[in-house]
Amino acid sequence: MSAMAHENPDGSGAIEIELHPPYATMLELYRDSDRNLEIVLDRYAAEGIKPTCQRGCAACCHQLVMATAAEAGIAAGHLLELPDGDRQSLDARLALWLEDTADLRRRLQESADGDLEAVTEELAAAYWQRRIACPFLAEGNCAIYAVRPLACRHHFSVSEPDLCRLAPDGVVERMVAVEEAFFASQDAIFEEQAEIGIFPELVWLLSAREPGPV
Ligand code: SF4
Repeated sequence: MSAMAHENPDGSGAIEIELHPPYATMLELYRDSDRNLEIVLDRYAAEGIKPTCQRGCAACCHQLVMATAAEAGIAAGHLLELPDGDRQSLDARLALWLEDTADLRRRLQESADGDLEAVTEELAAAYWQRRIACPFLAEGNCAIYAVRPLACRHHFSVSEPDLCRLAPDGVVERMVAVEEAFFASQDAIFEEQAEIGIFPELVWLLSAREPGPV
């Protein structure tokens, strides 16, 4: 297992990032997931059902994104490899995001030994209310597109596009088979993590919560 140190843009010290499982393994899991997803979407298309998502709409990038520890690791590794200019603007957005979410992250830390699922639900609702943009959202595009988490890869709507901007996540109509493909891919990542002793919980993509033991 390798680790990288990255200076925290809010000035509160260095973030130590463990990369696990190996980057190449994660990329392979993402490739498998994308292939499965394509098959599922083709089946829907054959029935005349297509996502209503539109280019330039980033409504879903204003929700709290949950990821596995491995996904957070691969995203972090990708960031460290970006050219300096891209890194600087991303660091500025990240600093803003850390400021905007300070109270929510504090609440998450305080409940470290509690019911993470319930707290996350509460915080996700608060996050959505504020429409906080994902710090990886750069002029309407995802700066970590190649390694974006499964949650982002599988987020499609078949409702009116405006509904995504207005309604809480649960109201937006989704494709059931896409959700099933998501959970199957997530299980594959959890299995990979378990092989090397990484806990199976989900984490915020950008959270200070420390992974616990399996
Ligand atoms: S990681 Fe990319 S796709 Fe996912 S919410 Fe952030 S900007 Fe959007």
